[in-house]
Amino acid sequence: MTVRLRAHHLLCILTYSGRGYSPAFEANFERIIEQINQGESIELVAGPDDVCQPQLASPDCHCFSDSVQERDRLALRDLSGTVGLAIDRQRIELTSQQVQQLRAGFAARTIRSACQGCEWFDLCSAVAEQDFQAANLQPSRSGCKEYT
Ligand code: SF4
Repeated sequence: MTVRLRAHHLLCILTYSGRGYSPAFEANFERIIEQINQGESIELVAGPDDVCQPQLASPDCHCFSDSVQERDRLALRDLSGTVGLAIDRQRIELTSQQVQQLRAGFAARTIRSACQGCEWFDLCSAVAEQDFQAANLQPSRSGCKEYT
């Protein structure tokens, strides 16, 4: 089944390494990344997505907030303009080459406008500095396919 992601979560999947808001959030995120590793396609959505699901009933839920929507806007701008990923298309099959491209931009901080002020900033930076070795996202596909 296609994975539904909001734009700034295209950054978060690069560095997710087992730490999140709750055990349910972590288990869900791990399932999602495993699906992507197995070649599942990604549908870009506006607003809460599959990663947000365990948080939606929480009193701390920030998934609808203006600041999180601003993260999506900034991520969309950076990813469309800098990485060359056809992010304007609604459906993406993330290849290992694209992940490498995204990792390079993330490590160089050219696509991290959306990360400003995020509580996980230092953790994500550390994962990037260690060449993403701790990241769950390790796609095996080498082809390159995108859908409109
Ligand atoms: S710093 Fe925050 S927004 Fe940026 S990738 Fe990490 S968790 Fe996602």
